[in-house]
Amino acid sequence: MSRYWSAVVHGLTPYVPGEQPKLDNLVKLNTNEHPYGPSPRALEAIRAATSDALRLYPDPNCDALKAALAKRHGLQPNQIFVGNGSDEVLAHAFVALLKHERPLWFPDITYSFYPVYCGLYGVDHRTIPLADDYSIRVEDYLPQGDDHPGAIIFPNPNAPTGRLMALADVERIVASNPDAVVLIDEAYVDFGGDSAIGLVDRYPNLLVVHTFSKSRSLAGLRVGFAAGHASLIEALERVKNSFNSYPLDRLAIAGAVASVEDEAHFQESCRKVIATREALVAQLAVLGFDVLPSAANFIFARHPQHDGAELAAELRKRAIIVRHFKAPRIDQFLRITVGTDEQCKVLVDALREILGR
Ligand SMILES: *Cc1c(COP(=O)(O)O)cnc(C)c1O
Repeated sequence: MSRYWSAVVHGLTPYVPGEQPKLDNLVKLNTNEHPYGPSPRALEAIRAATSDALRLYPDPNCDALKAALAKRHGLQPNQIFVGNGSDEVLAHAFVALLKHERPLWFPDITYSFYPVYCGLYGVDHRTIPLADDYSIRVEDYLPQGDDHPGAIIFPNPNAPTGRLMALADVERIVASNPDAVVLIDEAYVDFGGDSAIGLVDRYPNLLVVHTFSKSRSLAGLRVGFAAGHASLIEALERVKNSFNSYPLDRLAIAGAVASVEDEAHFQESCRKVIATREALVAQLAVLGFDVLPSAANFIFARHPQHDGAELAAELRKRAIIVRHFKAPRIDQFLRITVGTDEQCKVLVDALREILGR
């Protein structure tokens, strides 16, 4: 605290990311990174971009990346916005599209950055409890008479539960709220869901946000994008160009374009994670865990006889890091990133030992 701080800073409750320990030999299953590396073509493109051209500013418009993403998703480039990680894309969306007189609606258990952005940008919001099975109830997001939202945001699959909402239900929410932007944060959709990007041509109020950090294994490069109606994209561009004209650097643009163009690597590396997830879920069930159905590259699991915080601490003693949230309703759960088959074996062996099985 300091008397030099602005009133805004005094009032902030910043997001706390999962830790990035500076230790080797950890089994790091706490921040949903992809266990297999990015496309070799992306790495090659980044190397090629490491040249004297770095003295020049990058393309402020990121035309090459917008073109590649538009082609990949069957859209026009003016329906794509790109940013320095999807967190930045989300931040701009809070200012550009989610801040209204009426509150923004989102689930009580969800990505914990949403309330942080509400605090930073002064967005009035309403949190809506998940159902007892930790799913998002579609009915809760449909207008009831005069009670309708200023905007809606939720991840699909949801984080940290991993639960997926069927695309038809997403569409029902979007179609029922024509006066509100509905932002679907699809950070994990490539691990088992159907993307709503295919709906953006039909719904001018739908914005879909993706990241390169999870399914494209490029968390260190910081790239995310949004797909939506050109007028929603224009709103994001207006905010971005009032904030930082050059958010994506030359290396990020080059690597991201090459990643998008390597569809085979993308499909195969996601398929491997999904197969490992299914095996891990089965093994944890044998150990007595309740595991929520996951369509993501992580699982959310609790053990009826063992405290979540204690399990996380026991794993940590064995150099295995998972995420535990000290929050109401979910403090008995562990959120475990799906690693390699070898990492998952180390995890399951450790849990077997901790549970005394
Ligand atoms: C990881 C994650 C993001 C942020 O991704 P970056 O592109 O790395 O900023 C956004 N939303 C959800 C739900 C996430 O889990």
